[in-house]
Amino acid sequence: MSSAKERSHMSPTEATQSPAVLIVGAGPTGLIAALALAKNGISVRVIERNKTFEPRTRGAALVPRTMELFANLGVVEEFIENGLLVPTLRTYAPNGYDVLSSWTFLAYEEPTPDVPYSRVILHPQDRTEAVLRNALKSYGIQVELGAELVKFEQDDEGVTAHVAFHGSTTPEVIRASWLIGADGGRSSVRKGLGIPFHGETPQAVSTILAGFDMESFDRTTWHRWGDLETASIVISPSVPAPRFNMVMSGKQVDESLLGAGVAALQDVFNQVTKRDDIKITKIDSMTSWKPNIRMAERFASGRIFLAGDAAHTHPPTGGQGLNSSAQDAHNLAWKLALVHKGLAPPSLLSTYEAERMPVITEMIDVTTGMYRLMWGKNSILSAASQSQDQAAPAPAPASAPSSTPSPWKRDMKLNMIGVNCRWSPIVVDERTAIVEGEHIEAYGTPGGTLRAGDRAPDAPSLIDLSSGESTTLFKTFGPSYHTALIFSSRDFAIESTILDTLDSYNTVAPGDACLVLPVFILSPGFRSGETRSTGAGAAHKKLVDSDGHAGRSYQMREDEDGIWIVIVRPDGVIGAIVKGKEGIEKYFSGIFVASK
Ligand SMILES: Cc1cc2nc3c(=O)[nH]c(=O)nc-3n(C[C@H](O)[C@H](O)[C@H](O)COP(=O)(O)OP(=O)(O)OC[C@H]3O[C@@H](n4cnc5c(N)ncnc54)[C@H](O)[C@@H]3O)c2cc1C
Repeated sequence: MSSAKERSHMSPTEATQSPAVLIVGAGPTGLIAALALAKNGISVRVIERNKTFEPRTRGAALVPRTMELFANLGVVEEFIENGLLVPTLRTYAPNGYDVLSSWTFLAYEEPTPDVPYSRVILHPQDRTEAVLRNALKSYGIQVELGAELVKFEQDDEGVTAHVAFHGSTTPEVIRASWLIGADGGRSSVRKGLGIPFHGETPQAVSTILAGFDMESFDRTTWHRWGDLETASIVISPSVPAPRFNMVMSGKQVDESLLGAGVAALQDVFNQVTKRDDIKITKIDSMTSWKPNIRMAERFASGRIFLAGDAAHTHPPTGGQGLNSSAQDAHNLAWKLALVHKGLAPPSLLSTYEAERMPVITEMIDVTTGMYRLMWGKNSILSAASQSQDQAAPAPAPASAPSSTPSPWKRDMKLNMIGVNCRWSPIVVDERTAIVEGEHIEAYGTPGGTLRAGDRAPDAPSLIDLSSGESTTLFKTFGPSYHTALIFSSRDFAIESTILDTLDSYNTVAPGDACLVLPVFILSPGFRSGETRSTGAGAAHKKLVDSDGHAGRSYQMREDEDGIWIVIVRPDGVIGAIVKGKEGIEKYFSGIFVASK
């Protein structure tokens, strides 16, 4: 793992090189965008204002959809190995010792063939960032610390960024083709673009966040003492042991505690918990937190994009922040890569905002509703809103809607498996058309019909005919190409024109890069001796769906003849469900430049 003191080792020459994409901010958004771009062969530089890496744990809960994203980017194993599964929460009586109640707080689902990462993993944000930084090193990318964006301009060809290195009063100029503002809630990129940040900064009870080590205390559950009228403490186990995270909130919480040492924190901890048997041994970080519920009016301006907290801030209830930020970065990266290479028209970039904004709007509604249920009406609703950035209307309802998930029992939809973009102008669905006036929930409803714009499910037990080895769809998808799953129902009458059509997009790819990977999903009864026509020798895979998982996940009907093609985008979203050559061409005409 990288140390918090890790520094950039770039030479001055390297530091003045012009990257294709300049990423401002080395939080999870910037790092995920950098990794996805690097996997697409795009040169990036990541600048970070802080002189050392962020030690705060903050976004610890990684939802199943984020684990899938990490699988797509090839880093999921570290999270599985080191993350914690701690699904229960226990509250204590006023004497601090007697257990009042204990319940399953995080949705706990068994893995299924289509959702292999089914559980919320606790993995502190500082360590998540370290995993991502480490992965970036294999692409020769190091975060440049002590590098603050102070000013920028853009023109038709690119972006000129003025960056102060290590507090220098003479900023250096970095010229890039594109810039991603992943610079957090107070984003100077957003402010520099003059994009309003609509919403509210409600007054709330004081909240102190800390990460600390504790002497042998129960790490099998979250623990909660006290009440918000005075002070409440929630601690959750973190990694590495014996680390815990603490959220202390309440009307009597005194923020002068910030910066005080272990003894002062221990004293307050004992007062709130009414116990003296829990020993804090070392404080990793301690900070205050204020709610800020806002969304940028636009997520892009010309060659500059906002992603993550720079585009939206919200309460931590529901743990959606880092997870939503990750999806932003993944959605944007492949589109930017294709446009930068001249393979896609610039209009593809407008779909980043079109696809993400409705999801974020719903996410803010849900997390704000939960926040209000958790912190209580009086603490935030009766208080006057203060404006940050620019005066703006407060969009939130006066009370949590009745459909708001309980903040104390996590709703399955927060796992983000259902988050979709069925309304996107670039998705094509010939199996289930959108009905005019249909209401589409951006967070989805589980168990329904699989449609274009949905997350692409996994399927295990696929036998690769070329190697004989068992594989999964998630291992077949990749962040730098589309995967076209060709489902042929019964007679194996594969039309070679489909393969040729899919492969034609690869002929424009630079070098031997693959833009579209055709993958035949062969029925469970397929025997390797059978012959079949598969087109003019184009590179493709043939996977036997030995247990029928792929057919079931993608809702293929066995009684139906012919072919369905499901096109999975580099970000793991179903771009198209189509019947044949015309459908394929219709989908890719929205992705690639016309002159293929
Ligand atoms: C208490 C708490 C608990 C949370 N729990 C969860 C959770 O369980 N799950 C979850 O999904 N989310 C959670 N979140 C939210 C999560 O932490 C954020 O959504 C996430 O950090 C956003 O990542 P980011 O990269 O967009 O921004 P940040 O992490 O804020 O990173 C932005 C970076 O940009 C840098 N920067 C800023 N300006 C400049 C500049 N001008 N030049 C160069 N660099 C600059 C900053 O120094 C910073 O390092 C929680 C947040 C809090 C406060």
